[in-house]
Amino acid sequence: MTDRITRVTVSSVTLPLPTPISDAKVLTGRQRAMTEVAMLLAEIDTAEGHHGFGFSYSKRAGGPGQYAHAVEVAPDLVGEDPSDIGRLWTKLAWAGASVGRSGLSIQAIAAFDVALWDLKARRAGLSLAKLIGSHHDAVPTYNTSGGFLHTPVDEVCANATTALQRGIGGIKVKVGQPDWREDLRRLEKIRAHLGDDVPLMVDANQQWDRATAMRMGRLLEPFELVWIEEPLDAYDVEGHAHLTRTLATPVASGEMLTSVREHLALVDAAAVDVLQPDAARVGGITELLTLLTHASRHHLTVAPHFAMELHVQLAACYPGPVWVEHFDWLEPLFEERLETRDGQMVVPDRPGLGLTPSQQARAWTTDSVTVSEARS
Ligand SMILES: [Mg+2]
Repeated sequence: MTDRITRVTVSSVTLPLPTPISDAKVLTGRQRAMTEVAMLLAEIDTAEGHHGFGFSYSKRAGGPGQYAHAVEVAPDLVGEDPSDIGRLWTKLAWAGASVGRSGLSIQAIAAFDVALWDLKARRAGLSLAKLIGSHHDAVPTYNTSGGFLHTPVDEVCANATTALQRGIGGIKVKVGQPDWREDLRRLEKIRAHLGDDVPLMVDANQQWDRATAMRMGRLLEPFELVWIEEPLDAYDVEGHAHLTRTLATPVASGEMLTSVREHLALVDAAAVDVLQPDAARVGGITELLTLLTHASRHHLTVAPHFAMELHVQLAACYPGPVWVEHFDWLEPLFEERLETRDGQMVVPDRPGLGLTPSQQARAWTTDSVTVSEARS
């Protein structure tokens, strides 16, 4: 069965956030508060009438660059067989080879790659997880969006209660403030509020140096955390490896890495206990699957970063311990909602990703380009 891509649409969508968002990178002065997410949407249609939808994204700067790169390479897909996903990934990577095989250029490719996988699963009448080969119908989930640093601690506690009542299993909160004692004060209140049995994680968003990370890692041990996330600069492989060997609490990282190769440096150095890839950031589903295989062989826990609508399908395909991050930010972009119960996120059984762009997503579209096969 061969088919042919006849039409590719690339859209730039600006998703506003209800409240300016601050993690430790803002409190240490390295980044401004986040007020929007730049979404890159890709829609692919074929001669046989099949359709695929995918997306990528960027936070703060980079969205216009991703969009421009996607618009530039989109014509390379027209006329191709949509089933040849691996070959098409390589073709698009070669098209942008001079700007590299990591970062912005492959994040643009990610939107097409996700759309092609969505198309293939829809055509098969299977969810993406079932198409790939699923291990789970539901995946343990934890909430992040309620625990940022712009949120007063009483509100963090209230948000956690709401999340648990919604069937979300764990709670992650941000740390890494310039005054580490303030992190501990917040955590004490949060742990006391949750009790000892609720899985709790912290995320320092790369804002500790090696000495601070080690000190904090030891001070945090009584909290019995599921993991400490991004204690160090994302590219400090040696520093992460030392923490992982030394601390009782598992160490997590990987969300800021922008290629599989960068992740393999962490994995091969046994630098983390929990790997946190983001399919949009590493070039899409094709690349993420390579990484999941590698992580599994090293018996790592996998907790994909952000974009739960995409990652719940991929987490379901991981044979080892796995978590999916509950982040409600992208919900307005889609007609559908994910279901959480008993601490788990249910893997949708609708064909493909099971996602339909909402009217709101169309209204937030700032630019869009369609390339089509020339009619003969
Ligand atoms: Mg994080």
